[in-house]
Amino acid sequence: MNRNFTYSALVLRTKNSGESNRNVWFLTAEEGIIQATVYGGPKSKLRAHVSPFNRGILYVYFDQMRSSRKVTDFDVRFWHPGLRELYERSSAASAVAGTVLASHGGGGNWESAFTVAGNTLNALDAAESSACISILLHFLWNWTDILGLRPGINRCDSCNCEFLQEQSGWYSGSEGILCPSCAGQEAYGRQKDRAPESDGMLLLGPGARRWLSTVQDLPAAVLPRYTLDKPSLRQVKNFLSAILSSAFGTQLNVWDGLL
Ligand SMILES: [Zn+2]
Repeated sequence: MNRNFTYSALVLRTKNSGESNRNVWFLTAEEGIIQATVYGGPKSKLRAHVSPFNRGILYVYFDQMRSSRKVTDFDVRFWHPGLRELYERSSAASAVAGTVLASHGGGGNWESAFTVAGNTLNALDAAESSACISILLHFLWNWTDILGLRPGINRCDSCNCEFLQEQSGWYSGSEGILCPSCAGQEAYGRQKDRAPESDGMLLLGPGARRWLSTVQDLPAAVLPRYTLDKPSLRQVKNFLSAILSSAFGTQLNVWDGLL
């Protein structure tokens, strides 16, 4: 029986175990998240290779008796040295890794999950500090799709009307995206940014909807060309945070200060 396995893998998290070993969580294109142990002290070359956000070909030995995996080699293809150079890059990269871990690697769509996470880290590696947040939001938006949670944003989930280009939508976790009239906005007159939010609904204005529709099929590397004004940025953050927090049952710590 074959007990040696090869994966396309990305290091999500490492945790020292005992004096010289390290537990590692990988996202793999073949099996989603796997945990494996690296044996060897701080000076081991393998240990240096198996560092967060490195991506490459992973070789693992599976010990059937102990039901545990041992890393036998890791051929790193992407090092992402730039992620350590800027705080904005590293905190966005940690948010990506934490989100992947919280959703168990993408719920079955492992190959797409691996591609999306890898492309996001590549883009962050070279990003200006101001672009890191849009790269993270782009990742989270694509991640809602990988998890099968992405709501349509151009049509009302209640009356099915199609939004006009300059119209706002309202999001509620229980009802989806609603047009202003279904959201009950008209009852509040023209104070459109205020009333429904107090009923637990989140505003998704035309700028935020346009950005989400435009970037969803674009590669992360071109995002700096698609800027978001401040209110739209806030709306996109609230919207994505609401969708994912409700799926995870909590607001993730790795999003602190970002969403
Ligand atoms: Zn409607």
